[in-house]
Amino acid sequence: MTTSTKDFYQLLGVPESAGQDAIKKAYRKLAKKHHPDANHGDPKATERFKEIGEAYGVLSDEEKRKQYDQMRKLGAFGFRGTPGGSGPRTGAGGLGSTDGGGAFSFDDLGGLGDIFSSIFDRGRRGPGAERSQGPGRGRDVEYQVEISFETAVKGGKISISVPITEECATCSGSGARPGSKIESCSECQGTGTVSFGQGGFTVNRPCPACLGRGKVPESACPSCAGSGSVRQARTVQVTVPAGAETGSKLRLSGQGERGAAGGEPGDLILTFQVKTDRFFRREGADIHVTIPINVAQALLGSKVRVRTVDGRHVVLKIPPGTQSGTRFRIRGQGVESKGRRGDQFVEVKVEMPDTIPEEGKERIREFAALSGLRY
Ligand SMILES: [Zn+2]
Ligand SMILES: [Zn+2]
Repeated sequence: MTTSTKDFYQLLGVPESAGQDAIKKAYRKLAKKHHPDANHGDPKATERFKEIGEAYGVLSDEEKRKQYDQMRKLGAFGFRGTPGGSGPRTGAGGLGSTDGGGAFSFDDLGGLGDIFSSIFDRGRRGPGAERSQGPGRGRDVEYQVEISFETAVKGGKISISVPITEECATCSGSGARPGSKIESCSECQGTGTVSFGQGGFTVNRPCPACLGRGKVPESACPSCAGSGSVRQARTVQVTVPAGAETGSKLRLSGQGERGAAGGEPGDLILTFQVKTDRFFRREGADIHVTIPINVAQALLGSKVRVRTVDGRHVVLKIPPGTQSGTRFRIRGQGVESKGRRGDQFVEVKVEMPDTIPEEGKERIREFAALSGLRY
């Protein structure tokens, strides 16, 4: 599988304008997080750790960074950031206009080229690599899904619409109108790439006329306007697990982009974003709520009904003399998470009356006198 083309700035999570201090700080934080020792040798973490190191190696060196920035501006790596995915598509149709994946020649870069090529390995294979005819696994698609507070707590089935770039079904990704004659591209003499020089090195880009295919159909496919791929909304049924939290991920195997030439499809990776609720707040498996009680309830004690996440009500006993801010625990009424059910915490807030009738004030003065309260 092809290594993804990653943007060094994105990898470190810093803006292009970041100073050396910010870059170093971001690197240290990420390196610690993804260090193989801290991840029980998880190969994904190891891979990430390597990528971060490489990104830092370039961005922390002003000279290398300058060169990198230049090439990045030229779009040599094709990461203009289509939402929901990074890296090039592999196989036929991989040069769709949205991805702009550029084959890039490392040969003129000297030492810097080695650094880049270890990540952008397709550069080593030359411009033709993009047009490999073998089966290629489809790209993983990442998508963020907003779910209601209730769905997050209880789990449930939802239906979402995910924009996914698919190989055009009409032309099977060739970009040609079915039955149309195929000719060699005159722009690039059939090589599929055009090159141009900048600042001492040469950048090969896919030929814009034939989208890197080297061939042009006499007549373009009407469904995809010759690009070979179409972006469509796909409806996906998702079972949200109970206890889902903001940031928790769900991988749907085989629901990503279709593979090229009969290759396996990629996965769909969902990240949940839980909507806030007006009443319930969640902290892990526990639920927190705040309820108002009046002065009489606080002073004399009371019983109040409190709503739970199940939609039921439980009766909470407020003892006489309860202070504002007191927190009560209702056991087992939190969220089911990792095999345990959390608790519900109820904080009471004593609300003062806005106005007191004259007779009431008199009683309060009597009460103050009896209790020895000065005012
Ligand atoms: Zn088509
Ligand atoms: Zn061409």
